[in-house]
Amino acid sequence: MLGLYLHVPFCSSICNYCNFNRGLFEPALKARYVEALELEIRSAGRGAAADTIFFGGGTPSLLEPEEIGRLIAACRDVFTVTPDAEITLETNPETSSDARMAGFRAAGVNRVSFGVQSFKSEELVRLGRLHSVARAREAVRESRRAGFDNVSLDLMMWLPRQSVLDWQESVEALIDVDPSHASLYILEIYPNAPLKDTMARAGWSQAPDDDAADMYVWSLGRLEAAGYRQYEISNVARAGAESRHNLKYWQDGEWLGFGCGAHSTRGGVRWKNVSATEDYIRRVFEARPLAVERRALSARERAEEALFTGLRLAEGVDVAAVGARYGQDTWSRFGPGLAPFITHGIVRRDGDRIRLTRDGMLVANEVMSVFV
Ligand code: SF4
Repeated sequence: MLGLYLHVPFCSSICNYCNFNRGLFEPALKARYVEALELEIRSAGRGAAADTIFFGGGTPSLLEPEEIGRLIAACRDVFTVTPDAEITLETNPETSSDARMAGFRAAGVNRVSFGVQSFKSEELVRLGRLHSVARAREAVRESRRAGFDNVSLDLMMWLPRQSVLDWQESVEALIDVDPSHASLYILEIYPNAPLKDTMARAGWSQAPDDDAADMYVWSLGRLEAAGYRQYEISNVARAGAESRHNLKYWQDGEWLGFGCGAHSTRGGVRWKNVSATEDYIRRVFEARPLAVERRALSARERAEEALFTGLRLAEGVDVAAVGARYGQDTWSRFGPGLAPFITHGIVRRDGDRIRLTRDGMLVANEVMSVFV
């Protein structure tokens, strides 16, 4: 089963830490973009089965419910989308209202993922977010009144000036809101992020590394006590509420990405659409190729990727099964590199399956470097 990813590159304002492919919202540009996106979907090869659709961004909830409905209809016309498909809309709280949420629900969306980021007002201001804590809580209520029972919240830790206690209060507030799923991200400050300058000017700093590690480990324990299960390095869910779409990225699945900058992986071939919005629209309307990077992966690379991404899952990855899938002797190749991590309790081995321990998740990148 394929996953379908639809990229919407518009935001009402640009957050000072953001490194995604996005730009400022303009109604006329948005209208042309939606037309192009629909045309790209309708030009795709017909018939393949898909069981997830994911609107990501940017801020896809800036689209009108009618536009989201058109795009879902295009996916259903071109692909065999299962009746119970998971259809996710990334939503920023300031774009939500009772009417819009009811509209998105009627359009076919059945999962909303809110970019809340923090339940502390001063932290939202420091990040340049447009919504308040009260707006975030109300947006979740609006989604529930519209009938959404599959609601995810994003939170970010290691924010400028955030103490361990501040983070704990945000996690407690999240538990109080009771979403079915939550993603916990550690803020990465890119070298050219405006937030970096702001922090330097204002004298803000991030908590020491050890505190960041404590924040991460504490929150996962607390969320488990509240009935959530960690299923991936940054994601927890109530039973059955894991993101089916995102699992495709970690379980060696296949997906097609539509829209500017969207990535696709299918049949061992990976490609990426042109990133710039205007360029993307022009190419679609002129029926010119959209892919700017396209590469067929070797069996060896596919095995590496499957191990690399599979290790992000709490259940880990079966090294021998991946080897068998791609005709690679994975244990001979990677066993020696993994051995010290197993000895030091960073990776746990159970038969052919390996998984990161929770402490190991803090140094996941080092372990993953064994595979690439
Ligand atoms: S809302 Fe998301 S995509 Fe848009 S600028 Fe902020 S972080 Fe970036």
